[in-house]
Amino acid sequence: MTATAHALIGGAVASTISNPELGLSLAFISHPLLDLIPHWDFANNWRAKDKFILFIEASADLTFGVLLSYILFGQNVNLWYFFGCIFVSEVWDIIEAPYWFLNWKFPPISWIYNVQSKMQGKAALPWGIITQILTVALATLILQKI
Ligand SMILES: [Zn+2]
Repeated sequence: MTATAHALIGGAVASTISNPELGLSLAFISHPLLDLIPHWDFANNWRAKDKFILFIEASADLTFGVLLSYILFGQNVNLWYFFGCIFVSEVWDIIEAPYWFLNWKFPPISWIYNVQSKMQGKAALPWGIITQILTVALATLILQKI
């Protein structure tokens, strides 16, 4: 999913689950589980894309996601815990980034790449964005009921 979707889920976890061990674990494991849902992403056709453009898009996606997550979920949460949950919800793609941008195709980066590329559910626009909006909304609702 987009970094924005992962950041929103990480922030929603931080704001609803006060136990840090549970929250950080859930935010961490949410990444590959969310990626199973068919979605669109900037990196879907990363091989054909100019690396500089992809880097700008990925950075903008991450920055926007963190800011939006902070506005929606970060107000009454310990900031270390809040950004910790966002970090672990994004870390899979952060570890994978050198594979895309620097051609680093060796372990553990290549392991993460192989796992993630096999677990990606892909969908074209607009459905690939709609699935993410619905997933984030549903996950936020469920977390608020816990
Ligand atoms: Zn991912």
